[in-house]
Amino acid sequence: MLQVKACGLSDVGMIRIHNEDCFEIDAQRQLFVVADGMGGHSHGEIASRIAVESIREFVDRALDQDQTWPFAYEANFQHHSNALKSAIRLAHNSVLTAIQRDVSLHGMGTTVASFLLSRDTAAVAHVGDSRVYRLREGVLECLTQDHTWVNEQVLAGFLSEDQARTHPLKNVVTRALGGDAEIDVDLQEIDVEPGDLYLLCSDGLTTMLRDSEIQGLVTEHRSLDKICRLLVQEANSRGGLDNVTVLMVRVV
Ligand code: CA
Repeated sequence: MLQVKACGLSDVGMIRIHNEDCFEIDAQRQLFVVADGMGGHSHGEIASRIAVESIREFVDRALDQDQTWPFAYEANFQHHSNALKSAIRLAHNSVLTAIQRDVSLHGMGTTVASFLLSRDTAAVAHVGDSRVYRLREGVLECLTQDHTWVNEQVLAGFLSEDQARTHPLKNVVTRALGGDAEIDVDLQEIDVEPGDLYLLCSDGLTTMLRDSEIQGLVTEHRSLDKICRLLVQEANSRGGLDNVTVLMVRVV
């Protein structure tokens, strides 16, 4: 089994009062999650926490035991990938249930970006605009497509990536846990190689730094802890308009 080292850091930023992001590192399961909550008051914090805990709990159970599978099993994906996708769908249900129980939570939601490694295959699954990047042989590549209005415009050729990054509607996500009754989770399997570095992050990083700038920082330093601190520092030095969360996973 490939071994990984991981490090995460979450910061409230320079403007916001609450940090509605959260992350999870489950070294035993090789599960890594970033969630970026949204909602009035501090409700985004509740949504992202519910999602992360719900995902961790289901993945833990699904990898250990035979159990009733909650959704259709997709035979073209490995077991752990099915586990991760189902975990996110259950997390969506958990957020909806919390909203049904407490009407004041109405409108809360959260993104999820997740990475679950089994042998040499990583399941990468996400909803919303939190991202998963891979650095391999010095090249940083974004593995996920943001579920945002601006990214839809980029894909259709109406906006450039730079215009999207600073667009007034850049925060409009088109998919989130806690939104519509049905959730559509993007899932892919990645062949992982020793030396790969994966970055999971919230949009508080990617609206402040270009991909080329992130690549510069992650290739310049070895220590994961230092890279996390520098990425957060850089986002904050440019204004820190949002909560910023970074989670690095190195395959050794
Ligand atoms: Ca955010």
